[in-house]
Amino acid sequence: MLAVHLDHMRKAVRLARYALDHNETPVACLLVDAKGHVVSWGINDTNRSLNGTAHAEFQAIDRLRDSNGVVDDEDLRHVISTCTLYVTVEPCVMCASALRQLGLPRVVFGCTNERFGGNGTVLAIQKGQSTPGPEYHVVPGILRREAVLLLRYFYVRSNERSPKPRNKTERQLDLESFPPLPWNEYLSREEFAAEIGSELLPAFDSQKDLDSEIEWSLVDEECKEVRPDFVPCKRVKLYR
Ligand SMILES: [Zn+2]
Repeated sequence: MLAVHLDHMRKAVRLARYALDHNETPVACLLVDAKGHVVSWGINDTNRSLNGTAHAEFQAIDRLRDSNGVVDDEDLRHVISTCTLYVTVEPCVMCASALRQLGLPRVVFGCTNERFGGNGTVLAIQKGQSTPGPEYHVVPGILRREAVLLLRYFYVRSNERSPKPRNKTERQLDLESFPPLPWNEYLSREEFAAEIGSELLPAFDSQKDLDSEIEWSLVDEECKEVRPDFVPCKRVKLYR
């Protein structure tokens, strides 16, 4: 399962890099069906659209609605109920709630969202009584450092553009230190073993990342275009 999660998350990280290269907050996602086909994708679009709700997840939902033969909410729910969402940053409370109301069964994310996280960091919308819809599973920590690094790149760039540049130490990029990841706030030990692999349980126990290596090419290489072969939106089959 980890290899599958990594494969899709690498694509999401490249899309987030595309966002960074186009002056957007580097957050991106894919919707992947049970057969492993990418059925939709989204990139944060809040700066271009001047719409504070144009998060990557909403872009992916809208793209699915506009394509693949999805004509109404029933279709949309039907497709989403078969999908896993791969997103570089933990969904915010708003997106986490929308995903539950649409019946998404599973979210896999990279880094946690310290201010707005709706899948365990600030609120845990995926379970309990707060929101209508079935409960869903969350898997954190897939390419977490890569997701964090893109956000750090973004904030340094933003600071450099501001009229009053902050001092040099503030602008210095931290490429080495990453906070611990309290896995157990997001999933149980058993879920971790099933989703990621029991051989990696030491990472769960020590709140560490899964791999000692950072995949630098994913974050450092510019992403100039969203290539169709890179995100192959397969036509969704409806079963009504
Ligand atoms: Zn959101």
